[in-house]
Amino acid sequence: MSPPLSNPVSIMAFDFCVSTRCLLLSRAARWSGWAATVLETSQDESGRADPRKGRLEFNKLRKRLRRQVGKAIADFELIEPGDRVMVCISGGKDSHAMLEILMALRDSAPIDFEIVAVTLDQKQPGYPEEVLPGYLETLNIPFYILERDTYSVVRSVIPEGKTTCGLCSRLRRGTLYGFADQIGASKIALGHHRDDIVETLFLNLFFGGKLKAMPAKLKSDDGRHIVIRPLAYCKESDLERYASDMQFPIIPCNLCGTQENLQRQEIKKMLREWERGYPGRTETIFRALGNVAPSHLLDRALFDFEGLAVEVDASLGLPEIGVVNL
Ligand code: SF4
Repeated sequence: MSPPLSNPVSIMAFDFCVSTRCLLLSRAARWSGWAATVLETSQDESGRADPRKGRLEFNKLRKRLRRQVGKAIADFELIEPGDRVMVCISGGKDSHAMLEILMALRDSAPIDFEIVAVTLDQKQPGYPEEVLPGYLETLNIPFYILERDTYSVVRSVIPEGKTTCGLCSRLRRGTLYGFADQIGASKIALGHHRDDIVETLFLNLFFGGKLKAMPAKLKSDDGRHIVIRPLAYCKESDLERYASDMQFPIIPCNLCGTQENLQRQEIKKMLREWERGYPGRTETIFRALGNVAPSHLLDRALFDFEGLAVEVDASLGLPEIGVVNL
């Protein structure tokens, strides 16, 4: 059943329809066929294609990603029975992987939940508007393409040469959250992964003076939405490989010609160098986010330092001043 819609943004709605099932299924088969073809490219020691090894590696990767998403869902109760999960598709590797993995998990999950894919066409010049509808049609899920020209707004507000990503993301978020209200989505799924979370930690630490990252589950500031990040445990490098193996139709997030935020670039570079020198460091930092000791920090709102007390025996006198043999 389609959720009811009013129309504050231009919306193209596509629901799965039984009469088109055969067509969609055959397209879906073609997509998974593409992934299989890519696997043939793995080579053995003599440089010949080794399809068995490629397939094995791909299966291991897919299993790992599904396990990690499943664990994040379980650890943080990201998805509950009856949820209508609005999966936000930017067209990048992460959101494509998130949608594909959530769909696979839904089919084997012990609970019922709905998936609705939503993507926002922000009207950047050169945006290939036919790509995502063409792909999403193959997936047998309801999906919506929202059209809003945030590109012009951003261009008119931000001076030439300055990074536009901050405002662009805020406008995108506002549009998506508003649409979640219209379709009665109980959860909004975003494709941030482990590396995004660690980068955000350092951005806040270095430039904001805050010990704060990105949670796997969050209530929005206005209290009306629950945002979830099912990829919270997934490494970016795994998602990159997965997206490439699956040949998702990637739309780059630089059509507007802006540079990625300079501070984030610096953090990424720092983490890459650390990882080269000390493999596994990013994972260790990530684990620390789930292993916090408020009593060993300085935030008085998190820990009652004033209330710290011990009982002492006030009747005890001081020993004679001098050397005390214990
Ligand atoms: S790169 Fe362009 S489209 Fe992507 S977030 Fe930044 S301003 Fe927006």
